[in-house]
Amino acid sequence: MTPSSGRMMGKVLWSEMFPYEIKQKIKECPVVYLPLGICEPHGQISAFGLDTIKAEWLCTMAASRVGGVVAPSQSYHIHETGYHARWLEDVIGETNPHMTSMPPHVVLHFFLYQLRAFVNSGFKAIIVISGHSGGNQVDLRRAAELFMQISPVRIWVVSDPELVAGQYIGDHAGKYEISQLKYLRPDLVNLPLHLFEQEAGSGGKFAVGVDAHDATTLEGEQIMHACLETVCRKAEELNREVAHLPLLSRLTYSPIETLWQSLLAQKEEWITSNPHTDQKPVSEMSQWKTYENFRI
Ligand SMILES: [Zn+2]
Repeated sequence: MTPSSGRMMGKVLWSEMFPYEIKQKIKECPVVYLPLGICEPHGQISAFGLDTIKAEWLCTMAASRVGGVVAPSQSYHIHETGYHARWLEDVIGETNPHMTSMPPHVVLHFFLYQLRAFVNSGFKAIIVISGHSGGNQVDLRRAAELFMQISPVRIWVVSDPELVAGQYIGDHAGKYEISQLKYLRPDLVNLPLHLFEQEAGSGGKFAVGVDAHDATTLEGEQIMHACLETVCRKAEELNREVAHLPLLSRLTYSPIETLWQSLLAQKEEWITSNPHTDQKPVSEMSQWKTYENFRI
């Protein structure tokens, strides 16, 4: 998994750096990358952490090529609520999904504090890459927009299918995602077809896509490198944009809590709060019914 072009720049993980190293990195390129994912079902045939694994790869590779620092991953994400509920009924049914799911208000509140931590550490641009997509990134962008009203920091939130829009169509554990994992971690994909039909009550498929068996390593390589090109271009652009900015003011808890109250006031508009208008209602007896209309 070495980049096909570009310069390698040594350590990129915040967690592995010494103080003098992070100071130098920030001086050269004050961009921080946050990989977001989740553990959720991707069929009987692949690993739960697919979404996190691809986000981490993109962040690490982009930081190696362009510069900047990769923040610790977050592998807990919004699921279950709103439109997820009917989807889970359809693809998981009543079985245990073994997910690291969080409700939207917990993730979004925490996200504001993650952004604060990055600004306070000296970063001037933040790239958030979510391997878990389908709508949550829209709510994260809403939070990021609010944050940029109180700080000149530049924040870009994107999911991996958005990085290759027009080139590839993202999916859930189908040809697109299973190809990605076959390229990144072939040891975490196992494609014998009989495994598709196991686990009564999971629809037999445990959320696998119908075309997962068409996944190839080559397709995964092409998708991941197309995603990476977009991230690198954006990172370079953001690095140029923030070059003129002085060190950003550090933020206390108070302005974050004010932001949080504004965001919370919009909770019924969060995309993860409600079903999509074209979705059938969740069945009354489904384990997912309680999450269909998220209200706190
Ligand atoms: Zn996925």
